[in-house]
Amino acid sequence: MPEKVIRVFPRGFCAGVTRSIKAVEEALRLFGPPIYVKHAIVHNKTVIADLERKGAVFVEDLKEVPEGATVVFSAHGSPPEHFREAKKRGLRLIDATCPLVTKVHFEIVKAIKEGKQPLYIGHKDHVEAQGVLGEAERLGVSVPVVKDEKDVELLDLKTKKPIVILAQTTFKAEKIKELAKLLQKKFVGQRVELIEDDICYATSNRQRAITELAKKVEVVLVVGSKESSNSNRLVEVAKEAGAEAFLLDGVEDLRAEWWRGKKTVGLSAGASAPEYKVQELADFFQKKGASLEELTFEERELVFKEPLELVKIRQALSRLKIEFNGGGFDIKKDFVENILRETFLTLLEKKVLTKEDCWRLSVAAVTKATIRKLNKKWRQTDKETDVLSFYYGREDDCKEGEIVLAPEVIAGNAKEDGVPFDYELAKNLIHSFLHIIGYEHSREMFVWQDKILKRILNNNLIGKENEKIS
Ligand code: SF4
Repeated sequence: MPEKVIRVFPRGFCAGVTRSIKAVEEALRLFGPPIYVKHAIVHNKTVIADLERKGAVFVEDLKEVPEGATVVFSAHGSPPEHFREAKKRGLRLIDATCPLVTKVHFEIVKAIKEGKQPLYIGHKDHVEAQGVLGEAERLGVSVPVVKDEKDVELLDLKTKKPIVILAQTTFKAEKIKELAKLLQKKFVGQRVELIEDDICYATSNRQRAITELAKKVEVVLVVGSKESSNSNRLVEVAKEAGAEAFLLDGVEDLRAEWWRGKKTVGLSAGASAPEYKVQELADFFQKKGASLEELTFEERELVFKEPLELVKIRQALSRLKIEFNGGGFDIKKDFVENILRETFLTLLEKKVLTKEDCWRLSVAAVTKATIRKLNKKWRQTDKETDVLSFYYGREDDCKEGEIVLAPEVIAGNAKEDGVPFDYELAKNLIHSFLHIIGYEHSREMFVWQDKILKRILNNNLIGKENEKIS
């Protein structure tokens, strides 16, 4: 067993990863499961499994996301065509692309618009590269990709344009400089410019720190998944600095032969690896008698603002106030609230309601007899109904409306014909809301009602078994 374990900092989560995980968690809090995520939100098995347990569903193809459902785009960035497709399919999109990746998207577009030829250093199959290169494709420009000296040698690029070198944010910092020098030699006499700060702060800092760690220990263990580019680079950097190095997801992957005969072990973690997996490793070695030391280098704490879509959704929802009057909602209160919120948001997104609209809805449960009385009083009709809605028309602050339901509607008296309880309740709530905002019984009203119901079904607010909507 090793006698000493040294844990290096900075390690683990970067600002981009923290932001994207929080985005999925916040979407889950606002809408409940399922929240679809295009691609692994970050390349880490543990993070994915934790979010799956909370209700995230990871997909590779947007076609797997039901129409109208909520989807989060991963931290690695996406090509513009994915944004177009999401819009076309009516998905509610939350873009959790790391702002440092977005910066490279802007740079490639800027270079092309300035008449320059971009060249990309990175792994062309990595999703981050695909997102960046997709920007160039959209503008009809083909961008060569190189990852090593051999690629530079084989590069067959004929252009008189100034060349701009961009890079994958998680590539090896030193390697980029070396490749850029080779490219400058290859295109001698031509203007070749390297955008130096494409490598993100987290990648550079973790690579610098692990270099120092590797000089002090015999073997370095890097917590990270095999899909994680930055974690793989950390292993390479540690090896180049003279230590043996291994990548592992956590204590469950440990192999005794990695430290057999070694006295010192170093610990680090890729930018997408959760800290508790590093802690478990430290605990493991400490329990076996090793001492624990910290090797710390400074890292300015960065916090990225959350995706704008989430801010807007929360702002929108703050303009819908729902009050409950009377009993009968014990089990269905959350459900009623969710349906009304979803209706409100959809109407806002589809611009049926405006951004300034503020609504206060009061939802009441009364007996059927009371409903009949109200029906006569307000509508002067004998037609029996279980649901009523009224618009009070206050314009100063919030407009006010009331939805009155018979207990049978809340309980779900439609079960007999095979329709789940919540379906009828949801339909009545949407119908009432549309009525309150001014839609009478028109074709348009029923079109909206069906659209919103479909979205609600796809967001799993009503049991998926419901096939009532065509
Ligand atoms: S590693 Fe860098 S580019 Fe990638 S998510 Fe983290 S901060 Fe953003």
